[in-house]
Amino acid sequence: MSILTVLEYPDPRLKIKAKPVATVDKATQQQLKDMIETMYHDHGGGLAATQVAIEKRMFVMDASPEHNQPQCFVNPEIIEREGEIIEEEGCLSFPGVTATVKRSRRIKVKALNIEGKPFEVEYDGDYSARCVQHEIDHLDGIVYFDHLSPLKRKMVEKKFKKYKAELM
Ligand SMILES: [Zn+2]
Repeated sequence: MSILTVLEYPDPRLKIKAKPVATVDKATQQQLKDMIETMYHDHGGGLAATQVAIEKRMFVMDASPEHNQPQCFVNPEIIEREGEIIEEEGCLSFPGVTATVKRSRRIKVKALNIEGKPFEVEYDGDYSARCVQHEIDHLDGIVYFDHLSPLKRKMVEKKFKKYKAELM
């Protein structure tokens, strides 16, 4: 396993739309395992392939309290959505800042797991529901800043730049 480098905003590669995975082969499984390792290493709740410069429609997530139940979503698709929820979100590509984002409250998502087997799962109003929407956005080249109003975006962007400058 290896720890991958997480791209940080405003890296242009975060805007690339990922391509569907044809088969979940050995190489893809290894990439998913590396993504899980990287997610834990960087203390994230989710990580999309786009964030580690892999142009494949897949992400990993762990919403368990002990962070020991990683889940893989390959070619994920939201097939049902309902309601609305506004909560604070963070992102490994935007270290040091969070912002409130509006999402669907309940979603049903279908995807393939790391073995390439199809599954469906429903989340309602919890962290997983928001995380899945956040990660699928990444696969479409959308970052959570894109959901903010221009004013709010400017504010958070300023805070993010300040945070980055302090790290130098
Ligand atoms: Zn993110």
